[in-house]
Amino acid sequence: MLKIIQIPVLTDNYIYLLHDTASGSTAVVDPALSQPVLDELKHQGWRLDWVLNTHHHSDHVGGNQELKAKTGCQVIAANSDKDRIPGVDKGVDDGDVIKIGQYAAKVLATPGHTSGHIVYYFADAAALFCGDTLFSMGCGRLFEGTAEQMWQSLQKIKALPGYTRIYCAHEYTQANGRFALTVEPENQALQQRMIEVNQLRIENRSTVPSILQQELDTNPFLREDSLALQRQINCEGGTPVSVFTEVRRLKDHF
Ligand code: ZN
Ligand code: FE
Repeated sequence: MLKIIQIPVLTDNYIYLLHDTASGSTAVVDPALSQPVLDELKHQGWRLDWVLNTHHHSDHVGGNQELKAKTGCQVIAANSDKDRIPGVDKGVDDGDVIKIGQYAAKVLATPGHTSGHIVYYFADAAALFCGDTLFSMGCGRLFEGTAEQMWQSLQKIKALPGYTRIYCAHEYTQANGRFALTVEPENQALQQRMIEVNQLRIENRSTVPSILQQELDTNPFLREDSLALQRQINCEGGTPVSVFTEVRRLKDHF
């Protein structure tokens, strides 16, 4: 079994600790900080083998060096980001497969938020660690990529099984949902999800992971083929990329 522990840090970041119970192998995804990870490792009695980074932003790689120094773990990150992610030991490219004990993860390149962004898909655990590419009801801002690139990246995620759990790197769900309602006010799945999300946040609980099917039903960045959405933003009959581009533009100004 692959145990997954969510560690909330900073204002709204999530770090994930992954542990294959059969082999004892352990990885951490996007350690913004080292200390909360070291504390949790100690609490669980686990030894850290790998850091998996999705992209170079400091709130995803800030703990790399200290974790290496204190645990002897190795860092996996995109080859293209080797010179701007601290301490990379093993560079990976789109389509590569890495293993955490018995669990294989496929690396998918998802440029858009950054040019070198990658996500890790654990098919056997039905889990996707998608960093800042896809958020619950949102997607990453386009800092280093075009809307077309981000749209292509999201198509790769859309193609995964609907039951895949989406482990994104930030608790942005409630704010994303408020925007989503402005572009698809009549979407009942979205209205229902917002009721759940609002309740979870009142209780100070995490809304992550979500399920991919839930995102397909509620996330405006995955819903460019919704006629209601197209009408609402005056893009009726637009190409999928042009509808996505307009949703992204509106969110940037929301
Ligand atoms: Zn980022
Ligand atoms: Fe981030």
